[in-house]
Amino acid sequence: MKKRTFIKLCTAAATMPLEISAFASPEKLTNWAGNIEYSTDNVASANSVAAIQNFVRKHSQFKTLGTRHCFNRIADSKQQLLTTDFSAQAPVIDASTRTIAVGPGVRYGAIAPLLEAKGFALHNLASLPHISVAGAITTATHGSGVKNGNLSAVVSALEIVNAAGDVVALSRKANPDIFPGAVVSLGALGVITKVTLNIQPTFQIAQHVYENLPLSSLKEHLDEILSAAYSVSLFTNWGNQRINEIWLKSLYDLRKPPAKQPEEFFGATAAVKNLHPIAELSAENCTEQLGVPGPWFDRLPHFKMGFTPSAGKELQSEYFVPHKNALDAILAVERLHEKVSPHLMITEIRTIKADDLWLSPAYKQDCVAIHFTWKPEWPEVGKLLPIIERELAPYNPRPHWGKLFTLAPKELQSRYEKVPDFLALAKQFDPKGKFRNGFLNTNIFGDT
Ligand SMILES: Cc1cc2nc3c(=O)[nH]c(=O)nc-3n(C[C@H](O)[C@H](O)[C@H](O)COP(=O)(O)OP(=O)(O)OC[C@H]3O[C@@H](n4cnc5c(N)ncnc54)[C@H](O)[C@@H]3O)c2cc1C
Repeated sequence: MKKRTFIKLCTAAATMPLEISAFASPEKLTNWAGNIEYSTDNVASANSVAAIQNFVRKHSQFKTLGTRHCFNRIADSKQQLLTTDFSAQAPVIDASTRTIAVGPGVRYGAIAPLLEAKGFALHNLASLPHISVAGAITTATHGSGVKNGNLSAVVSALEIVNAAGDVVALSRKANPDIFPGAVVSLGALGVITKVTLNIQPTFQIAQHVYENLPLSSLKEHLDEILSAAYSVSLFTNWGNQRINEIWLKSLYDLRKPPAKQPEEFFGATAAVKNLHPIAELSAENCTEQLGVPGPWFDRLPHFKMGFTPSAGKELQSEYFVPHKNALDAILAVERLHEKVSPHLMITEIRTIKADDLWLSPAYKQDCVAIHFTWKPEWPEVGKLLPIIERELAPYNPRPHWGKLFTLAPKELQSRYEKVPDFLALAKQFDPKGKFRNGFLNTNIFGDT
């Protein structure tokens, strides 16, 4: 019901050209998972850069919403929320520079078929295509692959409306000093009105799933397993000393089909039907497996556009540790299995290549990400997170910016050497804190 109201607001806004439409919603707006009720009913929608500039000049404090897939209060505001609808403006694919430029609010699922139609692809996608490009890149959203950076790593240019209402254009080429600070911005620099992404020739992926990898095998062959395909995900509920499912997403050359995938993979056995990461759930929502090749956008995410991703009613947390500490970190969580498993739907383990983006969890370090899809039991999960964070502390875990964590702000900041530079950059874009909220004040700006 709440989601329907939101859709109604957006549709109404889209019919009003170059206008800002303001609404007082009769119901509280929530995030996708429903665990966060945003703190204000004031939601406005803007459908052009001019409308956003106008809006920015008129408001002293607000937050921009993407597709509301974050699990914490990073997108929340007590005063005012802004949604954007640029659906009338088609993304621009430039074959000569190998880039695509998209407006705010545009989802990966919307641009993927456009790219494919022109013979192009993105290097990677998250587990779901439903999220907005702007929201994803500001939080360092990622997929998997030892050679794949996160989704922010392929941003080559940005346009941001700053607190004065001016459009600031930045690119990796023209602004090498501050650009790496402006991509994973946590929404603190202003309203992103254009994101330019590097693209590459389209490619095919075949997805093979294996079941029941013994933990002993993982201990012995972790790096071989994590680098066995273009993108590798390990799913476990931490029960019975095993990894429940391994998803291998391998490059597939249609002209030279690869040899048949073996029936066994380090002691795990090939699945004989499509699976959901949570084995009890229907695989109908999941991308095709069993080695059937398909285009990148239909294999790299686990979940299909148009279907509910993941479980739906859930919470999520994720911690990034240096790849070199991956096994120790995995075993540290495994030691907690009796505490973790009762509240867990599934854990996913993925890899992310190092980048140079100041607030990226993969800043200057190849990472392994240990993710938790929790049952919607915040009282219990809220007590478990500090225990997991303590257990992982020797590896200085960096939490996902869009998921739930309890790490003390000082501790969090100490794990990012570029926080002081980011604060200086934020001051340039937003001297009076127009784009700040409780989450940013607590975790980044330190003035709670
Ligand atoms: C089922 C599910 C699966 C997920 N899988 C993955 C995964 O595989 N990998 C992963 O890394 N994460 C994953 N996530 C987390 C999620 O993708 C990220 O947190 C992402 O940020 C969500 O994007 P959004 O558009 O919903 O952003 P929102 O939650 O709406 O906003 C996130 C932040 O972006 C800012 N923002 C949004 N648009 C703009 C703009 N135009 N200008 C300035 N700031 C803006 C907001 O203010 C906020 O700070 C998953 C989440 C769900 C619900």
